[in-house]
Amino acid sequence: MKFLCALILVLLGLQLCAPVAQVPQGNAKTGAAGESAAPKTPHPARTVICIDPGHPSEVASGRGMQNGTNETRVAWEVALRLKEALESGGYEVVLTKSAEDELVKNRDRAFVANRARAALMVRLHCDASIESGFAVYYPDRRGQTKDGATGPSQSVIEESRRAAEAVRAGMAEGLAGALKDNGVRTDYQTKVGREQGGALTGSIHSEVPVVTVEMVVLSDRDDAEFIKAEAGQRRMAAAIADGITRFVGPVPARAPRKHE
Ligand SMILES: [Zn+2]
Repeated sequence: MKFLCALILVLLGLQLCAPVAQVPQGNAKTGAAGESAAPKTPHPARTVICIDPGHPSEVASGRGMQNGTNETRVAWEVALRLKEALESGGYEVVLTKSAEDELVKNRDRAFVANRARAALMVRLHCDASIESGFAVYYPDRRGQTKDGATGPSQSVIEESRRAAEAVRAGMAEGLAGALKDNGVRTDYQTKVGREQGGALTGSIHSEVPVVTVEMVVLSDRDDAEFIKAEAGQRRMAAAIADGITRFVGPVPARAPRKHE
């Protein structure tokens, strides 16, 4: 009896293996057996983007008035428009804060992106300088915070560089003629980044690709007028969303689609 069972199992095993073994390798015209042996397409994974509206943080309130507005307000308003643009493209969005005035430490902002396993963390800021226009920053080396934390990893550095180039490309196209394109820069070129060996605190703690977008120079009157207007904010959000899509790719359509 035991022998018989074993024989049946062996025969069943051969039967199950047979169709796979018979499918010629590298042949595109596989028959029914080949198709059934092919791995099933996994359900498309959700793609999360973390938007980090800059300030208030432990470093700065971002509330200093410049040309009739301030950095915290502009970053929050564009963040909400960017969230809307990304969600309409099928992405999931997490924000690092839930209200304009909420104080979140820079370290904790990175933790939000890490917990969400975001495909990208986009930090929205405005510059104040004698320049004008936008620039996209990324960490090109590890840094160290005052607490002794080091990072980001080499893979985060490399992915962040690709992300910065993609976001900059989207912004260059979407904002052409409206704002000066200052290109891709590194965390090392910022004051805080340089003080920490070359990376901003939000980059040091990030386990996902991270870019910091200085959307405009708010101390420049023309830049400020652009970003204060609803049309300017929408254009900024659309340009950044386009850049994000260039990096993470479009969200695959889910089937079957749910009615909304
Ligand atoms: Zn800022």
